[in-house]
Amino acid sequence: MPADLHLHTIFSDGTETPEMIVELAKKKGLTAIAITDHDVIAGIEPAHRRGAELGLEIVPGIEFTSEAGGAEIHILGYFIDLKNEALLAKLAQLQKSREERIYKICDKLKNLNLLVDPEKVFAIAGHRAAGRPHVAQALLARGDVKSVKEAFDRFLDNRGPAYVEHYKLSPTEAVGLINAVKGLAVYAHPAVSNCDKIIPELTAAGLTGIEAYYSGHDNYLTNFYIRLAEKYGLLLTGGSDFHGFKSGREINIGEPSLSDKLFQKLKDEYLRRNKS
Ligand code: AMP
Ligand code: ZN
Ligand code: FE
Ligand code: FE
Repeated sequence: MPADLHLHTIFSDGTETPEMIVELAKKKGLTAIAITDHDVIAGIEPAHRRGAELGLEIVPGIEFTSEAGGAEIHILGYFIDLKNEALLAKLAQLQKSREERIYKICDKLKNLNLLVDPEKVFAIAGHRAAGRPHVAQALLARGDVKSVKEAFDRFLDNRGPAYVEHYKLSPTEAVGLINAVKGLAVYAHPAVSNCDKIIPELTAAGLTGIEAYYSGHDNYLTNFYIRLAEKYGLLLTGGSDFHGFKSGREINIGEPSLSDKLFQKLKDEYLRRNKS
């Protein structure tokens, strides 16, 4: 039975709880899923608990946001060791950088006479890492803008007057970190990043797979990345990148999914590396 190895929960920018994701996956007839929240692992444990109750295999995962030469590259990590101290320290550093960034964004907004209280932004974010979407909501709540889109268009997008960078790993650092915590690193939705020239470099850094089966890939793109994976000796993975029904993205859990056979190949690779 198939697997969906790319799913987000409320612990990053998804709209469903990990428990709900597990229930939806079970209903869809999947036998395994990976929770792959952006730069956080908090959703994995609750998914594990619900998965054990319903008989669904949960692969511990993460999706790192990295950047190289202006291009955003997402690197998925599978079978990561959640107790690894180097991983926990890096995740803490990423979160801290995001937090400090909110203060900087609010300072920039203040210079534009928009008095957004950082604490308000953190309150809106709740248990999630605060980011630009929450700043946008704070601006909306104050009546400074009429929509989240307007907040991005006028102030927050990469060219906007209140834009602030945050610390990101480089793609090869992300691959290295995943390998260091005994996980398998996979290049997420390559056609979205549209930066195929980075694949040899990622492969040299220890990349294991390519997400050829992806909701945003049509047949042509899927086949294109299957051939690239063959060329570089990479395994194939797949997932929907489901962010929830209220996310505004028309994506369904398990569409596409990864075949049993390909999922088993990934697991075999993990077991091969981690035997002893
Ligand atoms: P951050 O991680 O804080 O930089 O925010 C990134 C998030 O902001 C993305 O995941 C999107 O959900 C959202 N976002 C980015 N650009 C836009 C935009 N132009 N309009 C609306 N939302 C956006
Ligand atoms: Zn996301
Ligand atoms: Fe992504
Ligand atoms: Fe994703």
